[in-house]
Amino acid sequence: GPVHVLTLLEQIQEDYARSFEGRIELEAPERLWVQGDPERLHQVLANLVSNAIKARATRVRLVARDVSAGVVIRVEDNGEGIPAEHLSNLFERFYRVDKARDRERGGTGLGLAIVKNIVEAHGGRVWVESTVGKGTTFSVSLMRATAPQPQLH
Ligand code: ATP
Ligand code: MG
Repeated sequence: GPVHVLTLLEQIQEDYARSFEGRIELEAPERLWVQGDPERLHQVLANLVSNAIKARATRVRLVARDVSAGVVIRVEDNGEGIPAEHLSNLFERFYRVDKARDRERGGTGLGLAIVKNIVEAHGGRVWVESTVGKGTTFSVSLMRATAPQPQLH
């Protein structure tokens, strides 16, 4: 059914409000809905935000935009970034950029494989852009939904 994007982003912001010392900023139109399963979409964004925090980001921006092809939600961080040679493998199961360092930070290397799976099951795509020392942006495209109609009895 229709998932209200701003509410989804606000839930993520709330989830991390206590544990994350940095800032999570939101930018989304009030009237924007996507098609999907709210719990699965929440899992996608939680995975991306937890990765940003593990990458030592102090600021994470969640930006949603209505584009002609649908809706794009971006998770932008100012963390350590990912070397270009790793970008094409990142969504593989168990793939980690720096095995020793990533092991010490916890995790299995499954998060992004799950993200890709969920997004593609929704008919969308996920991609990444990153600059070492500046930060990383993950983008998720989803199908727009119309606002739920008020129920008439
Ligand atoms: P899990 O998600 O299963 O707990 P994980 O976070 O290590 O473990 P993924 O979420 O699949 O696994 O991420 C794979 C690897 O990609 C990470 O180990 C990390 O090296 C790198 N990575 C992912 N997101 C970022 C990011 N925002 N900034 C820097 N590196 C990242
Ligand atoms: Mg992860």
